[in-house]
Amino acid sequence: MSTSQTTTIDITKATTSKINDVDFDNLSFGSVFTDHLLECDFKNGAWQQPVIKPYQPFLLDPSAKVFHYGQAIFEGMKAYKDDNNDLWLFRPDENYKRFNASAVRMAMPEVPEEVFMNGLNELLKIDEAWVKKGLGNTMYIRPFMIATGDGVVANPSSEYKFMIILSPAKAYYSGEVKVLIAEHYSRAANGGIGAAKAAGNYAAQFYPTTLANKEGFQQVIWTDDATHTKLEEAGTMNVFFRINDTLLTAPVSERILDGITRKSLIELAKKEGINVEVRPVLVSELVEASNNGTLKEIFGAGTAAVVNPIVGYSYKDKYYELPKIENSYAEQLKSKLTKMQHKLEADPFGWTVKI
Ligand SMILES: *Cc1c(COP(=O)(O)O)cnc(C)c1O
Repeated sequence: MSTSQTTTIDITKATTSKINDVDFDNLSFGSVFTDHLLECDFKNGAWQQPVIKPYQPFLLDPSAKVFHYGQAIFEGMKAYKDDNNDLWLFRPDENYKRFNASAVRMAMPEVPEEVFMNGLNELLKIDEAWVKKGLGNTMYIRPFMIATGDGVVANPSSEYKFMIILSPAKAYYSGEVKVLIAEHYSRAANGGIGAAKAAGNYAAQFYPTTLANKEGFQQVIWTDDATHTKLEEAGTMNVFFRINDTLLTAPVSERILDGITRKSLIELAKKEGINVEVRPVLVSELVEASNNGTLKEIFGAGTAAVVNPIVGYSYKDKYYELPKIENSYAEQLKSKLTKMQHKLEADPFGWTVKI
């Protein structure tokens, strides 16, 4: 059933598979990888022949620019297998566009569509046995690009490596999430790289997040850098608030990543008849809603966890607990979206794409 060569991708198959060593019922997120990867190098001003080969480490010169100047971007997406063993992606064109938007912002070359999309499709077909059926089983897909050119000179690299690696994943449970609202640190600033999926954005978040962890909070809700009065993202996810029966989320900006889960949930909620307001959400508004009992939910939204409910938040040393509610928007929307992604429910939006 397999083809060893397509017109554009050079394929070398692994001689043995690691699949039998993997305990698919006890996967820890992002730690197990499939038998193959896709690789494509950029040099002499051009993308070279894409290659699919056995998953393996690679060597870089110690002066490679990724280590010194941080040109590194990535994407996070998922593949799903339905009951007929067909494989599906969710809005992959959005990830592709965002990847290249991140590349432009980081002065990196854009990846051609056939390298990204055909590469991903072929890789998924080859490692298809690693995608398990059923709600809660997914294949997490990590496309990324790094600057591989040599030289400790602070200018954009002339060589890059694009790769896609695949990691089978169970539904992501983060336990009870309490968050700290940022009063000093920022994830992103106007004119900065907050809207790019750049590795450095994550590095910059680690320190303030570990400080929050020490105080018993799992994540930080990032506020705008200039005034710290607007609620912008929760950790590495977009963030939604439910006040009374209205769902609120900030508009995307230079500081906020244009999440695909975020925009899908907005559409889905509207279709479900939920009142959605996309506008700046103020910290003062949240505290007021907590105080008068109208704050019902806060949840993060992103590909890995889909929806991540938050049980409470702290602001200016005061802790505010969220009520426990039945039939939350978080649960309703997560259920709708994951069933659509797994083809267990109709997809009226045309978001699911068959491989
Ligand atoms: C990836 C990411 C998100 C979520 O985006 P999705 O497309 O929904 O996965 C949100 N915020 C940040 C900072 C991110 O890096």
